[in-house]
Amino acid sequence: MRARGLPDSSATLPEANFLFRELSSYLKREDVSELENAYLFSQSAHSGQFRKSGEPYISHPLAVASILGKLRLDTQTLAAALLHDVMEDTHVSKAEISNRFGKSVADLVDGVSKLDKIEFQTHADAQAENFRKMLLAMARDVRVILIKLADRLHNMRTLEAMRPEKRRRIARETMEIYAPIANRLGLNNIYHELQDLSFRYLFPTRYRVLANATKAARGNRREMVTKILDTIKQRLKVAGLDAEVTGREKQLYSIYTKMVEKHLTFSEILDIYGFRVIVKDVPSCYIALGALHSLYNPIPGKFKDYIAIPKGNGYQSLHNTLWGPYGTPIEVQIRTPEMHRIAEAGVASHWLYKSTDADLNDLHMKTHQWLQSLLETLSDSTDSLEFLEHLKVDLFPGEVYVFTPQGKILALPKESTAVDFAYAVHTDIGDCCVAAKINGENAPLRTMLRSGDRVEIVTASHAKPNPAWLNYVGTGKARSHIRRFLKTMQYEESAKLGERLLNQALISLKVDPETISAAQWEKLTRESGAKSKTDLLADMGLGKHLPAVIARRLAVPGESASGPSGTGGVITILGTEGMAVQFAKCCRPIPGDSIVGFIKKDQGLVIHTHDCPAALKNRGNSENWLDVAWGKDISKQFEVSIKVMVADQRGVLARVAAAIAEAGSNIDNVAMDEDEGKGTYTTMNFMLQVRNRHHLAQVMRSLRRIPEVAKITRMKS
Ligand code: MN
Repeated sequence: MRARGLPDSSATLPEANFLFRELSSYLKREDVSELENAYLFSQSAHSGQFRKSGEPYISHPLAVASILGKLRLDTQTLAAALLHDVMEDTHVSKAEISNRFGKSVADLVDGVSKLDKIEFQTHADAQAENFRKMLLAMARDVRVILIKLADRLHNMRTLEAMRPEKRRRIARETMEIYAPIANRLGLNNIYHELQDLSFRYLFPTRYRVLANATKAARGNRREMVTKILDTIKQRLKVAGLDAEVTGREKQLYSIYTKMVEKHLTFSEILDIYGFRVIVKDVPSCYIALGALHSLYNPIPGKFKDYIAIPKGNGYQSLHNTLWGPYGTPIEVQIRTPEMHRIAEAGVASHWLYKSTDADLNDLHMKTHQWLQSLLETLSDSTDSLEFLEHLKVDLFPGEVYVFTPQGKILALPKESTAVDFAYAVHTDIGDCCVAAKINGENAPLRTMLRSGDRVEIVTASHAKPNPAWLNYVGTGKARSHIRRFLKTMQYEESAKLGERLLNQALISLKVDPETISAAQWEKLTRESGAKSKTDLLADMGLGKHLPAVIARRLAVPGESASGPSGTGGVITILGTEGMAVQFAKCCRPIPGDSIVGFIKKDQGLVIHTHDCPAALKNRGNSENWLDVAWGKDISKQFEVSIKVMVADQRGVLARVAAAIAEAGSNIDNVAMDEDEGKGTYTTMNFMLQVRNRHHLAQVMRSLRRIPEVAKITRMKS
């Protein structure tokens, strides 16, 4: 936007003086001088910088402030407009702006600077809508968008200075992103000007032809316009109305789109004359309409009552097309001054400077008022309601917009995490995700995403969904996939365990499991109401059926049905059974401990140490207890809890942790009990990972070597 090395420019620009004079018409003296300060500050920050056109850089923020001044916006917005590029282009910090001009102004400048960082590439139409939403979502304060739109408008007005390909890129972006936002927010003038300027740079030839033709036609039309204008004024006066009547110029871009979309010729469009009538209140609008109908016949099917049913962006007016003199169509818009204000300034009309309104800081209130005013004027027009829904999403963001590594945008509900993102991209990616990179940096899967994040998911082919994910996923898609996966997993693992339990029970009845025939299985499955043999086995694994009971029914009656059970083999525990086998949290058994198994309904087999007090309490119900033993060569790590009492001295935790690590164990968690032993001793509770009892003994030996360690206890409940 600028080149360096041109002559210095420290004198106040004449345009600045002009702006401050204009602003004096509606701002207080002290507000104007505050803005003069902002101007001088910005000018010195940008000194030595020039625009492509050769003008001093300050001319740009000044022009942006002027555009917003025409909308009669408040002092904070105007100050922020004057300062909107200082954070990006000079060394001024947010803190400095905050100190000099207040936090609100600094927040606005910061908001605009953040929006500037979004780099838009060319994209499909569907993406454009997401970009628009993201843009709105990222700006918490609508005034940030207003400044951004004014910034873009001035850049579009001065686009001539850019290289042709850059002109086209910026024009396309303006047409796809910024003009629709201006339209949504009801900023009609900015909307139309952005469209016309974009049109000019996107289709230079068509623009030139249309511009010349319109200019030529305007001369011929002048006489006709004056004649109709006078007739209308006269008729409204007769009807007793005090009305302001003006002729309307047509937008070049709207002429162009009508020609393309409605297949009309240029003269067919240009022969339609447009007039605007402003009267004091709503009843007068309808009286004016009636008066005009008595003057010229309305063309059937053209009447639109946007007063009764406002447009989605709050626009209100009566529209109709009449047959004018010599059969010329005349388009009229009838509205009140209030409606006119909203038509011109849209959402900005709510930040109009009011000297009595001291609390202009209350932005959410203001935004809320705008929404409220829309709500009040809304009828049941689905279009409007839909828009409102969008607007709410946009201004009170309940969604985050994030990028895939390919630059595609995904919209996710607020508080979504990397896991939600992974499932949103593809189920397979969700099922296999192990880590995430957010904006190029490693991040845990539970990281909550923010708008604008670029997210990359690291997958591993062997990886599986983790039940812990359910604690932090936000989207239904992720949740249901994880649940479904876990269910299948549990089912398969339970079935495997069920088979082992059954085989053990059969062996203890002295029945070879291999001798059970398919017919026997079929009969049993049918009788027990299970869907299949696997179902039945899974139910056993989950403790819904007792293996001993099933085994007796499968065993040939008479041969061993009355034989004693429990003398056969034991179930071998390897620690790799998955969800079907759980290690009780009360005693945390590790290989080497003597263990017992308890079949808990719906949970499968739970392993306790044989001396676990919690387990002893339930020993009476012997049918549910199984003999279990550890398998050989278990490589899995098990959690064990130990309590270490140490003399309270500096650095002792570090020495204890080092000793644990030295013994080859990992610390999952540590908690300190304060004040035990009146401050001389501290108790540390560690959750460690060990392979077996032998390994735990090594850890304890290593700990005893530390002089401060007074006592070590393994916790078993
Ligand atoms: Mn700018």
